[in-house]
Amino acid sequence: MTDTILDIIQRLAPRPYRTTSNPRSMYMMACPLPDHEDRQHRDGGGSFSVNAEANLWRCYGCKAKGNTVTLNRILIGEALHPYNGPVQRRSAPKVRKTKLAPLEGVTLAALASAKGLDLDYLLGRGWADTRYFDGAASRYVPAVYIPYFDTFGRDPQIRYRIGLTAHDRFRWKFGSVPRLYGLEALDRYLQQPGPLILVEGETDQATLDAHGFPALGIPGAGNFPPAWADLLGSDVALWVEADAGGNALMTTLAAIIPELRIIHAPATAKDPTELAAKCGPLEFLGILRQLIEAATKAPTVLARAHGSTPTPLRRSSHRARAIYFQVST
Ligand SMILES: [Zn+2]
Repeated sequence: MTDTILDIIQRLAPRPYRTTSNPRSMYMMACPLPDHEDRQHRDGGGSFSVNAEANLWRCYGCKAKGNTVTLNRILIGEALHPYNGPVQRRSAPKVRKTKLAPLEGVTLAALASAKGLDLDYLLGRGWADTRYFDGAASRYVPAVYIPYFDTFGRDPQIRYRIGLTAHDRFRWKFGSVPRLYGLEALDRYLQQPGPLILVEGETDQATLDAHGFPALGIPGAGNFPPAWADLLGSDVALWVEADAGGNALMTTLAAIIPELRIIHAPATAKDPTELAAKCGPLEFLGILRQLIEAATKAPTVLARAHGSTPTPLRRSSHRARAIYFQVST
């Protein structure tokens, strides 16, 4: 195997990157590890650094590091993320106490209410109240247990929602392997008319599913191994949130799914859940159908961080906003 770190990332988790003049951090990009939700930085880089000289990698966000073999094994799901933050923190406890904010915690009822989701619907999908140990604060916080089933509705991989509004809101159960959310309904979705809609996270997937739309949730914007695309059929649309993360996700997926269409978030709602909260169910159906109809083919601009421009996204957002107002007035 003569693959470089960059080869492996381009093959298994392609994403834009920034080039630097320092060979020991020659490429900077959003972290590709499955349980690190790294956002792409404004300059096109991210927390993940590739040492092209030694063929090593390191993430300044989640503190993981390794070589080609470890990276390959993590990205194909054979190995766990070698998260070494806790080890490092143990050797410097004073820094830890001042730096780590306590987890927010959230209950299922609070989450359902804040997101306008039906509690019984969520219980029916296996969501449940649990507790999560906050090591920094040495206490348990309330958390929501969210099972990610496979296409047979089995083998749940567990994600915890540990906050409602905090920046830090999700954890994978130790040993769980991220997958798309909603796969247990995939057979049914693929028989429904209209595109299979990809959204960021399980809450938006639940909103769309509850309104009868075929949808799958992507667990973390930076995280989409190309093999996942094999499941999706040929009619796929991505709901793009109008921020750097949404843009990066669009770039990543456009490279993996050539026929991908883009649903641009209307200016009034960043995601389907927010849209649903702002209008009644019937109006939601109407607006979503129009957004789907107005979906455009993904721009094929790729990976040139310096030259990338949000112009296409903005233009289409105006279009989507026009549609939103047209329907809602
Ligand atoms: Zn990372």
